[in-house]
Amino acid sequence: MTSPEFSVQESVVTAAQETLPQEGVIQLGPVKITAKYPEVDTLQDERVPDLLARMYGVLAGSGAPLPSAAAGLDPMGKRWLLYALLLLVSNRDSLGGFDYATAAKWLAGNVAALEPIYQPRARGKEFEVQVLGRTGWLGAALRTAVTPAGRETQEKMSALYSAPGHQPGALLDRPVLEKIVPPLEKALIAERTAWLGERDHQPIEDLRFIADFIQAATWQVFKPYAAGRADSPFVTGLKYRDRLYDKTAAMPTEEQLIGYLVNRANVVGSDSTSGPSLFVQAGYDAARTADREALEQLLQTWLDRGDKRRGLIAFLVQHTGSNSHGLGGIGMVTEFRPNVAKGDWRWRNIRTMIHELMHSLIHPYLVAEALKIQAPQVIGEGFIEVMTRELYNELVGKMTTGAAGKLQFGIDQQDQTVPARTEAGYGQAGKAAADIFGLAGRDSFLTAFFVGATDLVAVPA
Ligand SMILES: [Zn+2]
Repeated sequence: MTSPEFSVQESVVTAAQETLPQEGVIQLGPVKITAKYPEVDTLQDERVPDLLARMYGVLAGSGAPLPSAAAGLDPMGKRWLLYALLLLVSNRDSLGGFDYATAAKWLAGNVAALEPIYQPRARGKEFEVQVLGRTGWLGAALRTAVTPAGRETQEKMSALYSAPGHQPGALLDRPVLEKIVPPLEKALIAERTAWLGERDHQPIEDLRFIADFIQAATWQVFKPYAAGRADSPFVTGLKYRDRLYDKTAAMPTEEQLIGYLVNRANVVGSDSTSGPSLFVQAGYDAARTADREALEQLLQTWLDRGDKRRGLIAFLVQHTGSNSHGLGGIGMVTEFRPNVAKGDWRWRNIRTMIHELMHSLIHPYLVAEALKIQAPQVIGEGFIEVMTRELYNELVGKMTTGAAGKLQFGIDQQDQTVPARTEAGYGQAGKAAADIFGLAGRDSFLTAFFVGATDLVAVPA
């Protein structure tokens, strides 16, 4: 390639490389990136458009005209875009195979819509995360930064997406599946009994304050992984507090009633603490649509047999935090549980709010995979619980007395408590997911969770 166009572009890149400052290497988790901002710092405003057009050509292809959205930017906007394109150019060699042309076109076409816009050298590396995260570069780089586990470990992980003792190909035995009703009823009544007594109320506004804290903490603990998907809620303006609503005050929908029952039936049916689970005995395979429908029908029939049941489930729905996955926000219980110290209940609220946020952050690829595996709750709730455990324990380990006190606001001094470490809940699903986390390792698990690299956690094909 000796065209004059190409040599001009190359000289731009070379000029940028010559001014690499000592502090030009930035670490984003396991990913090392190069930043060459002084080159743009010292540019006169009138030189920016020309260099911008050329830098765009380097990435989008020689002769590609700058999109009108970018050409119409004010001088500040143009300079920002130049910084951003330079960042991509400077890291082009470290990630071959990435589609730089699409990334440049996306940036140039969307810069006016980015909100807020971060400037280079922001303390939390927000600029680099914004540019590299939104273009998908960061996700691709995180993906290549981890090495998949060896074959033996992969096989061990793969086996954990099915219930212990599950016989592939076994047919569903409906009469055996119907045996789920008594233990399920028992679990439901136990949950209802725990709420008997006088219940004090806390305003949803108190939980909104905690949502701000959890959002910041999640970013602190899981960056840059949490920006590893181009449309990550963390780079598209997530405001956790605004998504909360008072679940206790809302009338549950029919869909919520059955959804709650299915969720609990999966926990009860997967319980293998005293031998093969009921699902295994019944040959139940959640990856089969017909099996899922049979279970749902069974639960619907149970629900329809009396108003008392409907009232019971409605109460439990109102007293269980949930995430409707973007459709209607995140519902939180606004009553304190009787006979539990208010301080302890507040820590439970915090743990639940982390859990619900993780439902919003799990990569859609994993959510889709959960529908295809024999034990869907391993991903659907177990992965969520493992991430909840990771964040919650990190917070507990770093919690100062002052911070703990702040999170207990609105609770009388004598009712305040300190938090204790937690384990992954949700029965067998949480246990299996915790084992997968241990086998994959933290970096691989986080990359799978946020970037959607399902192979790193060996989800069966
Ligand atoms: Zn959940």
